[in-house]
Amino acid sequence: MKPVAAVAERMHFIDGQFVDSVRQFPKTSPVDGGIVAMVHEAGRAQVDAAVRAGRAALRGAWGRSTVTARAALLHRIADGIERRFDDFLAAEVADTGKPVALARRLDIPRGAANFRIFADILRAAPMDSHFLDTADGRGALNYAYRKPLGVVGIISPWNLPLLLLTWKVAPALACGNAVVVKPSEETPSTATLLAEVMRDVGVPPGVFNLVHGFGPDSAGEFITTHPDVDGITFTGESATGSAIMKAVAPTVKPVSFELGGKNPALVFADADFDGAVAGVAQSVFENCGQVCLCTERVYVERPIFDRFVTALKAKAEALQLGLPQEVGTTMGPLISRGHRDKVLSYFALARAEGATVVTGGRVPSFGDARDQGAWIEPTIWTGLSEQARCVKEEVFGPVCHVAPFDTEDEAIALANDTRYGLAAAVWTRDISRGHRVAQAMGCGLAWVNCWFLRDLRTPFGGARLSGIGREGGMHSLNFYSEPTNVCVKL
Ligand code: NAD
Repeated sequence: MKPVAAVAERMHFIDGQFVDSVRQFPKTSPVDGGIVAMVHEAGRAQVDAAVRAGRAALRGAWGRSTVTARAALLHRIADGIERRFDDFLAAEVADTGKPVALARRLDIPRGAANFRIFADILRAAPMDSHFLDTADGRGALNYAYRKPLGVVGIISPWNLPLLLLTWKVAPALACGNAVVVKPSEETPSTATLLAEVMRDVGVPPGVFNLVHGFGPDSAGEFITTHPDVDGITFTGESATGSAIMKAVAPTVKPVSFELGGKNPALVFADADFDGAVAGVAQSVFENCGQVCLCTERVYVERPIFDRFVTALKAKAEALQLGLPQEVGTTMGPLISRGHRDKVLSYFALARAEGATVVTGGRVPSFGDARDQGAWIEPTIWTGLSEQARCVKEEVFGPVCHVAPFDTEDEAIALANDTRYGLAAAVWTRDISRGHRVAQAMGCGLAWVNCWFLRDLRTPFGGARLSGIGREGGMHSLNFYSEPTNVCVKL
């Protein structure tokens, strides 16, 4: 992997040019607290310039671009990411501290794949066409076609920075929109490299605009409240989604929200025991527990409960908290000291709420530069009441609570007793039960005997506090375009 330049500079990209700001803030490494980048913070005027550039691009040649041309452009963007794979890898790892092996397997390949899949989906997308009978017997042809939504604001989080950003940029460009993108203040780097790729592969000026900054009273809010932004697509915390809904209400913008989760895993006694332990461990601890789809509540059928907890503890204790580039590192730090404070507050709360700490629960001590980072031990609790806040609220760290159940109905009721509704995983060898329980889950996405596996053409999104709308495949095209009807009397 290439090293990143000592302190990189992360600028905005507006109307095809990199531009700076007087105000800048440091981005620190979660590995050792060192400064990895100076990030320019966009003011209202720069966000306004980005929106105007997007509007101008829509009035120009981009607004008349063909599906074939846009699909080809999306493939060129994917090629551009793949050509600079090592740069993206180094930047993502520097910002997040995640293991290189994980970013190499997941984040960067999916960044490129998102463009390829939406290029192909766009080309294959059908639209409605109906022949309408009329009294004169000659009939009328009704057909629908897609117009772009317009200038789309894309606001993304820090946990899977390139993956989640491109998950929205790709379908937005496929549908012919212009975008104003704001990555998380914690992860400005791969978005900036993406802007370089956009420039280098010939994306017209104004089509892809990038602004850096924070949420409230900063670039995030300036995008959501801008009267000329036509839609907002957001991934992040449920509370932020709620704030954005209020912000967009006066201008009635459509929103697509992918928000938090408190996802359950249900492990039945007939499950492949080793497969279930490995799968649940991955779903709890992957990316240091910082994936919206991560499991935070594990329900295990009573006959295998003790054995399961012992085996999951062994998996947690076998995780290697190491430097990202070290071979064998399987868990990195949390994203920041600030986020670690939040996770630690739940660790303290769990004890106060009566949890048994099966393993973990502390800040590890390394005796080296990592002690200045945001590291935390993988943690397992048992013994909490189902009403405990630690069982109800999203922690977003490498932690789960494990509780026993006796019947299938009880397991379903426990899993669904949440205000979130993003994902669930069911572990059983009984194929009928697998389907039955998966369909009974009150969430947008249920896995049987796997986790995080998904065909990108399928719907993705959550219910209740976990989001509004669905993206993925045609669902994304439906959000990023205005289906428009033409009726022709024959
Ligand atoms: P966050 O809500 O704090 O921030 C996300 C983005 O919103 C950042 O770019 C931030 O600057 C911006 N923002 C914050 N306040 C804003 C405001 N008032 N107006 C406009 N923009 C604002 O989330 P995070 O901490 O970066 O990410 C973690 C959260 O994201 C977790 O809750 C996780 O579950 C959720 N998440 C959900 C999904 C999903 O697909 N459902 C995927 C990944 C992460």
